[in-house]
Amino acid sequence: MNIPDIIIAIDGYSSTGKSSFAKLLARKLGFLYLDSGALYRGVTLFAQEERLISRLGAVSPELKDALQDLHLSFGSDGRLFMGARCIEQQIRTMEVSSQVSPIAAVPYVRAWVDAQLREYGHRGRIVMDGRDIGTAVFPEAQLKIFMTASEEVRARRRYDELKAKGEEPLLEEVVQNLRERDYIDSHRETNPLRQAADAFVLDNSELSFEEELAWVIGLIQGKFGIL
Ligand code: C5P
Repeated sequence: MNIPDIIIAIDGYSSTGKSSFAKLLARKLGFLYLDSGALYRGVTLFAQEERLISRLGAVSPELKDALQDLHLSFGSDGRLFMGARCIEQQIRTMEVSSQVSPIAAVPYVRAWVDAQLREYGHRGRIVMDGRDIGTAVFPEAQLKIFMTASEEVRARRRYDELKAKGEEPLLEEVVQNLRERDYIDSHRETNPLRQAADAFVLDNSELSFEEELAWVIGLIQGKFGIL
């Protein structure tokens, strides 16, 4: 398929399978995949390690200046690095998940992450997933998808993911974390999670990857007149 140099924005609630879907689509199109949530997770890990967030989630104002010394980047395989250290595994733990949404609600943190994300956007040919990509980071994205799935399916997916990584979460704890993050993400003042008016909705509760891919390829072909 001969695809123009577009930006594809994929937003939605936690654990709707955005990353897996975005990765698959990027590979299929030969685009770059970027996980915006990984940067919020990276900032959270940094704040935890620097003791700039309390156990109850209170963010120290010192984080703002400290961000000047933080260098997060994606390796060629999409893994996240803090300086030269690969932090991909650490940012996926429950410890980080439980504090990422309050950090992501801080306006200067969002501005810091947005600046990094927009750098990648100049080139086009990217698939980026997150919560506000189609509404705030790239409102000009040529294709926007909003993903949803039932809470049961989402919790089970995240639970299985954590188990596969050797964690021992309680299903109830996972459900609670999803609800909390969705609530904070949808109710924060700066760029809350919203469906963009021009986004196509994908409910993947009962779809396989193949079905999701067939749906989006059909969408792209129709929208850009590609046969
Ligand atoms: O996508 P993921 O679940 O890894 O994102 C982690 C957290 O980062 C989300 O729960 C949300 O609080 C925040 N986030 C955000 N805006 C984005 C991407 C993620 O606020 N564009």
